Amino acid sequence: MSTNLPTSYEAEFAGKVALVTGGASGIGLALSRRLAAGGATVVVADHNEESARKAADELKTTGARAAAVALDVTDPASVEAGVRFAVDTFGALHLGVNNAGIGGPAQTTGEYGIEDWNKVVATNLSGVFYSMRHEIPAILAAGGGAIVNISSILGTNGFANSPAYVAAKHGVVGLTKTAALEYAAQNIRVNAVGPGFIDTPLLRDTDGPAREHLISLHPAGRLGTSEEVAELAAFLLSDRASFIHGSYHLVDGGYSAA
Ligand code: NDP
Repeated sequence: MSTNLPTSYEAEFAGKVALVTGGASGIGLALSRRLAAGGATVVVADHNEESARKAADELKTTGARAAAVALDVTDPASVEAGVRFAVDTFGALHLGVNNAGIGGPAQTTGEYGIEDWNKVVATNLSGVFYSMRHEIPAILAAGGGAIVNISSILGTNGFANSPAYVAAKHGVVGLTKTAALEYAAQNIRVNAVGPGFIDTPLLRDTDGPAREHLISLHPAGRLGTSEEVAELAAFLLSDRASFIHGSYHLVDGGYSAA
């Protein structure tokens, strides 16, 4: 049986159009850069239009094809319009990176605010569903492709004082497996990535002893970088991962091995 594995890793995403939610910052920005470096056309989709445009402009200076679109993953109509923008602008969509996410407050389950719960779940879980809901028909129309959903190490571990985040990230793993089963035979691979704690603006309010505590959870003795997460996600999006469907892959400095 032919596997169609690539023979060269240069320009491995040539001819592919990718949409990256939350693509203007942190892990999403690193992924936008990594995909563009591999030859992909990248649509940077973020709710902050100005930072999305700045990121897309940066990609264009490297010679990549890129565009920015304002997209709020908590709003299905906005997601639908963002996917339509990608297809209308570049002719197709092949790769979906569902990365936009927020942390939410640190609070126990018994005291967690209902509005906070709804906001975190709307962004981190419903946002991934809305994104796949609109990406999948577009990717099918293009003849197939791949999706990576950014979950977290907290897609498999609990974490005190983060009930909404942990529940949403566990949900992303189940949603990923389900979509993977539904579309494997139609040439769409759907996988999830579970980063440990990564040094991005998401951790901007975590410093001093709290940051030291997070570092101590990783046997590697440090937080991860956005580029380290982007490398794993890029592999899963590439044809090199052609037999990988419905998996949840950790990039966590050994966090989960303990
Ligand atoms: P960042 O805050 O650096 O980037 C997230 C991006 O998503 C920002 O540009 C943010 O915009 C945008 N965003 C937030 N809400 C929405 C929305 N409703 N619609 C569209 N865009 C939105 O965070 P990270 O890069 O750290 O996080 C990326 C993903 O990785 C998240 O899903 C996060 O849960 C996950 N993750 C992060 C870890 C970490 O330790 N950093 C660990 C494990 C997983 P703005 O900043 O303007 O609000």
